[in-house]
Amino acid sequence: MSHDAAAQALANADFTLIARRFADAGWAVGLPAEGILAVSAPASDGRRPRLLLSVGVHGDETAPITMLACLLDAISRMPAALACDLMLVVGNPAAIAQGKRFLEVDLNRLFRTQREGLDGMREAARADAIMQAVSAFFGGDGVNGDGLRWHLDLHTAIRPSRYPTFAVVPDVIAETEKPGLLGFLGAAGIGAAILSGSAAGTFSAWTAARFAATSATLELGQVSALAGNDPGRFADTRAAIDALLRRGKPVGGRMPEVFRVSQELTKHSDAFRMAFGKDTVNFTPLEPGSLIAEDGGTAYRVGKQTEYVVFPNPDVRPGLRAGLMVVKTSFPQVQG
Ligand SMILES: [Zn+2]
Repeated sequence: MSHDAAAQALANADFTLIARRFADAGWAVGLPAEGILAVSAPASDGRRPRLLLSVGVHGDETAPITMLACLLDAISRMPAALACDLMLVVGNPAAIAQGKRFLEVDLNRLFRTQREGLDGMREAARADAIMQAVSAFFGGDGVNGDGLRWHLDLHTAIRPSRYPTFAVVPDVIAETEKPGLLGFLGAAGIGAAILSGSAAGTFSAWTAARFAATSATLELGQVSALAGNDPGRFADTRAAIDALLRRGKPVGGRMPEVFRVSQELTKHSDAFRMAFGKDTVNFTPLEPGSLIAEDGGTAYRVGKQTEYVVFPNPDVRPGLRAGLMVVKTSFPQVQG
């Protein structure tokens, strides 16, 4: 199967070939909802490492779909090489089909119970289906053993970045797990990691908080069309995930630059205005005291040290996050 065909099948949330290869090898295969595949080893006692890989939570972020499709095509040809139980989630197949980030509302704000009036949206039903399947996989309240639970949510950023690849790491992850995760991210070619104490309804924040999973959102390059993706891109990321699949534990590497969130820009009204263009490059530095954004009578300003802007997006719905400000920090003094 060509890389293009494998990528198109995954983009279509079609696991037929992958599922058949694992099933033929005697693995337990489940399809708990559209675009979700669970495979577990024959005679798995629930203590094998459990790895959740998700792509397409934003429907126009296709590069990770191509990368993951290539990985899955390879490892499904030799199921015995898979050292963990695996769940694959294609986040928003309906949006992928339309080449859109989302249909009605950003799916990656809905992984929480409080949804501020967004419950009737199509993405809310999708978030519910994903949360139900993941809950079964990770084992409710974590009662099914203490084995490794990892979640990598693979994205691409909307805009260019001073760090071409970076990650957002939920700060709730156990301190004992952070060095291993950060080292893995470094090995995966991730240049910067942002420790975020805010849930913001993201998929990775939810798995970290709900299941004590070692989770991260990876931003791999920029939004692009599926057909134009070069399977050779992000070779380091691909190799590190491949090693995780085959070893059941992470490889280590040099630490990425570590940041922590200094402030979260919430858009409270349609009067929200940023002090810089929406095409601002991720990790652009802003000097202490300078204006970041205004929202009616509220002004957001940089604090006492240089802050860097990430994910500036003034076009979100009021009530949602319009951007993050981060500061450099040294690990492990993450509380700065
Ligand atoms: Zn995304």
